[in-house]
Amino acid sequence: MSRPSVPIVTIRSAMAMAPVPAAMPPGVAAQALAARLARGIPDRPTLLHILATQAADEIEVVRQAAERTLLEHCGDTVRLRGLIELSNRCTADCHYCGIRRSNRALVRYTLGIDEIVSTARWCGEVGYGSVVLQSGERRDARFVRFIADAVRAIREQTRSPVLPQGVGITLCVGEQSAETYAAWFAAGAHRYLLRMETSSPRLFAALHPAKQRYAMRLDCLKTLKAIGYRVGTGVMIGFPGQSLDDLADDLLFFRDVGADMIGMGPYIAHAQAPLAGPLPDPATRMQLALRMIAATRLLLPGINIAATTALQTLAPDGREQGLRFGANVIMPQATPPHVRRQYALYNGKPGVDDTVTQCAAGLEGRIHAVGRRLLRNAWGDSLPR
Ligand code: SF4
Repeated sequence: MSRPSVPIVTIRSAMAMAPVPAAMPPGVAAQALAARLARGIPDRPTLLHILATQAADEIEVVRQAAERTLLEHCGDTVRLRGLIELSNRCTADCHYCGIRRSNRALVRYTLGIDEIVSTARWCGEVGYGSVVLQSGERRDARFVRFIADAVRAIREQTRSPVLPQGVGITLCVGEQSAETYAAWFAAGAHRYLLRMETSSPRLFAALHPAKQRYAMRLDCLKTLKAIGYRVGTGVMIGFPGQSLDDLADDLLFFRDVGADMIGMGPYIAHAQAPLAGPLPDPATRMQLALRMIAATRLLLPGINIAATTALQTLAPDGREQGLRFGANVIMPQATPPHVRRQYALYNGKPGVDDTVTQCAAGLEGRIHAVGRRLLRNAWGDSLPR
């Protein structure tokens, strides 16, 4: 018997989103949900309920449970990874992405090693503790050497009394061979972010050209784990054709693949990307993204979860809202401003013209405002799973 599947595009967020005023006691259904969540790790029907409910008091119950779980398992610190988008050259052609190979409207760039390393040094100096090196996907030997050289140089040149091993390095450079992953690990990278974008093979096929295969992406995640990386993955939330059941399956996929960290956000279209179809309204996508964060926290209490820039694109305080729903990682923009506009995976990306100092300014205050503190000068890995 097939399961009922709720298409996200049919959901309207207007009734769901106002936080419950502190004075209003939760209703009977919300109390029942709180009791269910207090019993331990949520099962699939509970996860689906978290995603589907339109009741403001239930959403607040979920948020509070996720925040409690986070504080209990990970503490109140927010871990920082300076984001360095080192190249927008890409050999892949994902249907949703603004820097896909087929987008001829883009000026392509690759930063030099010196600029990458000096940016990473700046990240270390302001206390970020870790960097993410992100780029489009390339597998040629020159690129493989280039990344290995950049990783080695960053680890050597960011050592300091407070970070004797240099900054932690997360790579986010796509599907590669096992040899390449092993070479980059040996050079000093210890985390790898490879988003599945969806755990559904059917939806994966709709999001990618035929030569980009679900099985290959999954194999890469397994290879990365076997090599010893801390592995991150994630999905897009609210893209055309996706249902709440698909999102519930994504949550269970995170558990089953042994993810150490999750980076996910609402789907935001790009004008030069061909993915088409009816979309849920932005408020619905935003709220679903927040509830995906909360559900992930409840399912995998010790994991690292990023409050992504895509959240900030849909709401100026989107990242802070992500923290309130159970996220504990922020990736402040550190890409040199002269290329940042060319790394537009989707339209409306915030802060493209800010200096790196402007991107850092106010971070501490915004994080304090939601009752959390910055973890400075530390790699900030998740608990081992
Ligand atoms: S999502 Fe990544 S791999 Fe796909 S086209 Fe964009 S940059 Fe390339």
